Amino acid sequence: MKRIALLSQRLANQIAAGEVVERPASVVKELLENSLDAGAHRIDVEVEQGGSKLIRIRDDGSGIPKDDLTLALSRHATSKIADLDDLENIQSLGFRGEALASISSVSRLTLTSRASDSGESGGWQVEAAGQDMAATLSPAPHPTGTSVEVRDLFFNTPARKKFLRTENTEFGRIDEVVRRLALSRFDVSLSLRHNQRTVHQLHSAQSVQEKQRRIGLVCGPAFLEHAVYIDMEASGLRLWGWVCLPTFSRSQPDLQYFYVNGRVIRDKLVSHAIKQAYRDVMYGGRHPAFVLYLELQPSLVDVNVHPTKHEVRFRDQRLVHDFLFRSLHKALADVRPDDQLATAQ
Ligand code: ADP
Ligand code: MG
Repeated sequence: MKRIALLSQRLANQIAAGEVVERPASVVKELLENSLDAGAHRIDVEVEQGGSKLIRIRDDGSGIPKDDLTLALSRHATSKIADLDDLENIQSLGFRGEALASISSVSRLTLTSRASDSGESGGWQVEAAGQDMAATLSPAPHPTGTSVEVRDLFFNTPARKKFLRTENTEFGRIDEVVRRLALSRFDVSLSLRHNQRTVHQLHSAQSVQEKQRRIGLVCGPAFLEHAVYIDMEASGLRLWGWVCLPTFSRSQPDLQYFYVNGRVIRDKLVSHAIKQAYRDVMYGGRHPAFVLYLELQPSLVDVNVHPTKHEVRFRDQRLVHDFLFRSLHKALADVRPDDQLATAQ
């Protein structure tokens, strides 16, 4: 019989990384969420070779104090919750204190930051390369905010590296993560570069017109050309956003974004309501395109069903289903007479 021994910290982190860090896109997602939690208004993302060579994310958020930098890379280290009360009223996207520890255990990670209230003129940097703890802390020039650089993802876990798909596929997933964020946080300026090429350059948007511009950049001009803007309210529920008329459809459900209180979700009930609304106007296995935002009182929806699976649970399922169906059906019906007029002429 083998004897029982505690896992080394590094191995424990690498095992945890198996759940948090599946591929480059999951690194990007975690880092973006950290930037948002830090109150960033501007986030720049740069990747090379589909993210497997380099992922660099820079934000203008609140930064990390020098004395906390090393701790930020440790497992179960978080500034976001301190007790059970905090956990039950969670406002941040993260709170597990796992991401940086996991990512740094399977890559060469550099964390550079300057805290907004540090009073320092420069920043500080820690580096970790698949190690238990940050190896070095050194001064580094940096404006207020944080940069995280992740190089050579999975360099020390070859079995996982083998699971990565082609550069294009991995980049496509990163792009999708960035698009989802771009559509949920119009107030944040966002850029994405791949292999020195600018893929997205999005300025923060306030007015409906500015938001619409971003929609066009993210979803393409054809989407915008065939989309109507809706904004409807009933029984304490609000649905707004852009729905494409049946004149624009997709062979894949790839232009479907649905947010509940700002959080992107995939949900059977929601899909069903939307499908019903399009039932009479879209056939042949085609899929509608939309970017929709449902807003309701936080107490009427449970978003913490699963942190990564984008599921929600509505208190009153029927109410939500009917509201979605009616709103969309009306939006599509309102434009139909014109179409008929056009064909009648
Ligand atoms: P979590 O987000 O669950 O707290 P992470 O491992 O992602 O865990 O991050 C650990 C901590 O490092 C965070 O709680 C936060 O204090 C700090 N941190 C990470 N990224 C940033 C960032 N971009 N800006 C400011 N602080 C950050
Ligand atoms: Mg986090």
